[in-house]
Amino acid sequence: MASRGKKKQTEAQDMKNTQINRQTDGISGTTGAGGVNGKSRTDRKIKILKTVLAAAAGCAALYIAAGLAYAAVVCLSAGSSPSAGHSGFLLSAGNIRGTGLTVYDSDENIYKTVYAGGETEVSYEKIPQEFVELLPAGFGYGNVLKAYFTGNLKSSAAGMLAWEAEKNGIENMPAGRLAQSRQAAQLAKNYSEQQLYEMLWNGLYFGNGVYGIANAAKAYESCLLENLDENQVADLVNIAKSILKENKYPDEDDVDTQTAYCAGDAFCDGLIKQLTADLKKKGKAADEAAQMLYFGGMRAYATVDSDLSQTVALKYEDRFNFTTLQSGGFIQSAMTITDYNGAVRAVAGGTAGNLLYNRALSVKRQIGSTIKPFSVYAPAVEAGKIHFSSLIPDEPIAINKDGQIVLWPDNYDGVEGGMVTVTQALQVSKNTAAVQVCRAMGEQTVYEFLRDKLLFTNLNGEEDNNLSALALGYLSDGITLDKLSSCYMMFGNGGTYEQPYLYEKLCSAEGEMIVKSTHKGVKAVSTQTADIMNHLLINNVTQPQALAKEAAIDGIEVAGKTGTVGADGEVKCQYFVGMTPEYIGAVWIGFDEEEERLNLKNYLHVTQIWKNIFQDISCEKTAFDRDSTVEKRMYCEKSGNLASQSCENVQEGWYSVDNLPGICTECGQ
Ligand SMILES: [Zn+2]
Repeated sequence: MASRGKKKQTEAQDMKNTQINRQTDGISGTTGAGGVNGKSRTDRKIKILKTVLAAAAGCAALYIAAGLAYAAVVCLSAGSSPSAGHSGFLLSAGNIRGTGLTVYDSDENIYKTVYAGGETEVSYEKIPQEFVELLPAGFGYGNVLKAYFTGNLKSSAAGMLAWEAEKNGIENMPAGRLAQSRQAAQLAKNYSEQQLYEMLWNGLYFGNGVYGIANAAKAYESCLLENLDENQVADLVNIAKSILKENKYPDEDDVDTQTAYCAGDAFCDGLIKQLTADLKKKGKAADEAAQMLYFGGMRAYATVDSDLSQTVALKYEDRFNFTTLQSGGFIQSAMTITDYNGAVRAVAGGTAGNLLYNRALSVKRQIGSTIKPFSVYAPAVEAGKIHFSSLIPDEPIAINKDGQIVLWPDNYDGVEGGMVTVTQALQVSKNTAAVQVCRAMGEQTVYEFLRDKLLFTNLNGEEDNNLSALALGYLSDGITLDKLSSCYMMFGNGGTYEQPYLYEKLCSAEGEMIVKSTHKGVKAVSTQTADIMNHLLINNVTQPQALAKEAAIDGIEVAGKTGTVGADGEVKCQYFVGMTPEYIGAVWIGFDEEEERLNLKNYLHVTQIWKNIFQDISCEKTAFDRDSTVEKRMYCEKSGNLASQSCENVQEGWYSVDNLPGICTECGQ
């Protein structure tokens, strides 16, 4: 096959009338897209050997710590099904992945069960023949165990036995270890060759944090195992050969433990991280928390909406939604959908490539112009500094850059001068106007609004207390996509910021509540301000010149804001945060590689991804709730004041009745 699944090209995008939002970064740098933090990974292969050895011991309880992150109590009968009624941590040959964490969706139906070993193991029949043939016939327990434990034996007393048995032969084992080694050998013989192959190919480490053949197919070939073509199979066989030959094993900081375990499901990945953090807050050590979650038979009552997740997943699986935009790289994307109480309802972590990389809930990025509504305009409306149609100077300011006075920032079209209304400035994302309003408010005020009202926890003093960070979104640490969604909640729920959260409660197998989720809400702005901002964000979608007008959906109110992060005068990534009366959807598109650039001249792509999904979501509520003290009035575009009989260019605006602008005196008479 010609396509290798990595660089699929589709028809060129329609580069029509909208223009690139050329962000500048005259004050601070533009780096900052972080990665998933590396943490040591517990090798699940070791758990499998623990099972093997425990099984050999014959229904004995075996406590193995051996310097591992997990200390699992293993109890089972060799060669038989685990009997019912076991408490604790039940493992068996058929159940080597632990009891798993059952994740319930928002309707309390089972969404997924998350196992320590990931959930993408495949049966013997589904393993491509090329892999089966990779190892010689008569392939026995020593090779199986070697394959499972390649390179990672030193940390495990149990693994050491297998290694020595393989290296020296059973006969040459030291007397003290001989008995145990024989047990391991005996057990290996109790498995069929097919079972051994299953263990091998589902457990082999393929590098880059990827375990098992099914995950390797996804991560390296962007493809489901059953859909691999000949070339892709050959690629993976070559990787496997080199792994087996080099005895590779995961580096300490190769990949985050839980990320790998939840391969392919960004929601569960985020959930496990959140649960682990919350268990730690209750005094549990990391290994204890992991043991509870993976082996405790626990139930997490999550916020995920299965139907919504399915809709998002289907769109993200369709490559034609994510065209190749640059020679060389495949566009990546991530999405979160939240409701107005902070509950995260659906997550897409990526389109292809390394599905272990949680682009939605783990990666912190700069957010470009998506910051403007909540950092600059909302607090300015709240403070009474601006109203819907206030005139703002569309002009750069003079700043001192490296000892020189320069004018900053640029606008997307390079045109500045005169005045723009607030709604015009938002519709075309004027950098000049955002900087002007931010400066008029005072950087410190805006900084404190983010910190105290929107609960930003990673603002870094001077690095973020400046116009570039606060007005244009070039934050030093950046934020995650679910955090970005949450900053828009106040515009659809009457002014309250809600921390995004992933679960309501964690219960034991017996139903006892272990952790109740806590998430803070802060009244950030008044309902009037929220309502006025909502109308401004609706104009961003409905007005002819608006950058996000492709996101409009018939029959339902849609509000939103685009954003771009630029670097070296080029587009690095784009955002669209779109709101309906029920949900907020934040979409990011870009590349995992720092140096890749999007050559997009407009926001068609990112808004269409959002629209593709949201037009398929059934929506009972089609209009936002309104504040009765916010009223529609006609205003004059020339003066920004309420229109008189003489005004020629008149538009609709929304104003708090307590804070109406004056009547235009510039026109006529
Ligand atoms: Zn007028």
